[in-house]
Amino acid sequence: MKNADVIVIGSGQGGTPFAIELSKRGRHVILLERDRIGGSCINYGCTPSKAFLAAAHQAGRARRAKALGVHATVDVDFAFVMNRLRGIVGSFRDGTQRRLTEAGVEVIHGEAAFADERVVRAGADEVTAPLIVIDTGTSASIPNVPGLADTPYLTNKTFFSLADLPKRFLVIGGGYIGLELGQGMARVGSEVHIFHRGDRVLNGEEADVSALLSESLKEDGVDIHLSAEPSRVTFANDVFTLELGDGTRYDGDQLLVATGRTPNTGALQVQRSGIVLDRRGYVDVDAQFRTSCQGVYAISDVSGQPAFTHVAWEDYRRLLSILDGGHRTRDDRVLGYAVYTEPQVGRVGLTYEQACAKGVNARSEEVPLSAVARAIEWGQERGFYRMVIDADTEKIVGATLVGYEAAELVHVFIAHIQSGSTWHTLDESVHIHPTYCEAFPGLARMFGSETRADEPVCAAAAP
Ligand SMILES: Cc1cc2nc3c(=O)[nH]c(=O)nc-3n(C[C@H](O)[C@H](O)[C@H](O)COP(=O)(O)OP(=O)(O)OC[C@H]3O[C@@H](n4cnc5c(N)ncnc54)[C@H](O)[C@@H]3O)c2cc1C
Repeated sequence: MKNADVIVIGSGQGGTPFAIELSKRGRHVILLERDRIGGSCINYGCTPSKAFLAAAHQAGRARRAKALGVHATVDVDFAFVMNRLRGIVGSFRDGTQRRLTEAGVEVIHGEAAFADERVVRAGADEVTAPLIVIDTGTSASIPNVPGLADTPYLTNKTFFSLADLPKRFLVIGGGYIGLELGQGMARVGSEVHIFHRGDRVLNGEEADVSALLSESLKEDGVDIHLSAEPSRVTFANDVFTLELGDGTRYDGDQLLVATGRTPNTGALQVQRSGIVLDRRGYVDVDAQFRTSCQGVYAISDVSGQPAFTHVAWEDYRRLLSILDGGHRTRDDRVLGYAVYTEPQVGRVGLTYEQACAKGVNARSEEVPLSAVARAIEWGQERGFYRMVIDADTEKIVGATLVGYEAAELVHVFIAHIQSGSTWHTLDESVHIHPTYCEAFPGLARMFGSETRADEPVCAAAAP
């Protein structure tokens, strides 16, 4: 049995920087990884999906540019798009491997399982350490649809290996992965159908967000089927056939399953170390990321945190600070996220409904992009900016932005919420004209009037 100071299981966005940092501090760190170095984000998630969307959205924007008087003929080289994203993935993975090597982390390739308390086995290797961090992430969750398991369906793990553009592309799942890749495939030239069991796509978001995204995807030619439960999937002569409960059938040349995520805890045999899982299979941790086995911590997706890379990264920093004696918890932070469809969605903090449910004396105001000078000039009027405050403290508690580059713009609100700003601070900030952000002080000002302000939100009067 090998002895180490620290074992990290999983080389994702939480585990890798944690291993590197502790190794740089002179500890003997062993990192166990069963698949590619870098985890989901780099290999099968954020990096390839955003590199793919970069091309897809350029194609979509070029087609929509006729509204500005620009008439473009769009010809997407799908093989080039996919090769380019695989090149970026490879360079990010190589960079991660290089940083691990330079820091002196010992990497063991193999699937880890607990053998005993603080003892982990991977293939022929058995290692023990007083400090173990589980960062094993999640995988695509596969619905129990008759026939599906016998077909070569795609998940986020295989989608990015596609070489040829499928003429017809079917997607099961109308969450953010299904919408991003579904819209992307329509924009690079496939005929796309999205089947969603809910009565609106992205049903964790506010209803008008779902409506705006549906509208935009439909303009791209995506057929969205709501309240759609596939009852059977078959694959014959290179064609997938998806049958719905009402007997209607849809044929596709590829089928993507994007119906949520499931924690990677099945192989870990955590019970041998006395670690408890919650009812969905995520590792049960307290506010300091402690599992029920002393010395064993779990961070990022597998610990049931909001499943985003920036959360995984921040978990590593928090755990480090906690182990250094800091008094931080996993909850005392402002977390935002984004959906990279067009229009984009940028979210942070509480929605109006969430704030009310928490007993906050909430107020919400919003401004449509059709009232924002820059959006009109740029021809990007689809969307809105919404802000929620606690009327008792006047502090900003949440924002929903839908529109062009909303993922970038939402950081204004992340910073204000993090610093405890009231709406007055935002109102008093002078934002540059003409920008999308210029609308935010005007939006804040709406909280100051009994009746909604009828003054323009931007310097140049919008209609
Ligand atoms: C298509 C897609 C797009 C996404 N886009 C975004 C985005 O734009 N922005 C964003 O913030 N997030 C995005 N995400 C989510 C993001 O990828 C994850 O939240 C993030 O990667 C989680 O990191 P992690 O460290 O928890 O786990 P992971 O990155 O999944 O790493 C876990 C690692 O553990 C390994 N492992 C698992 N079990 C074992 C075992 N028993 N032994 C050894 N190794 C094991 C796995 O092989 C994996 O490498 C996306 C996800 C997907 C699927």
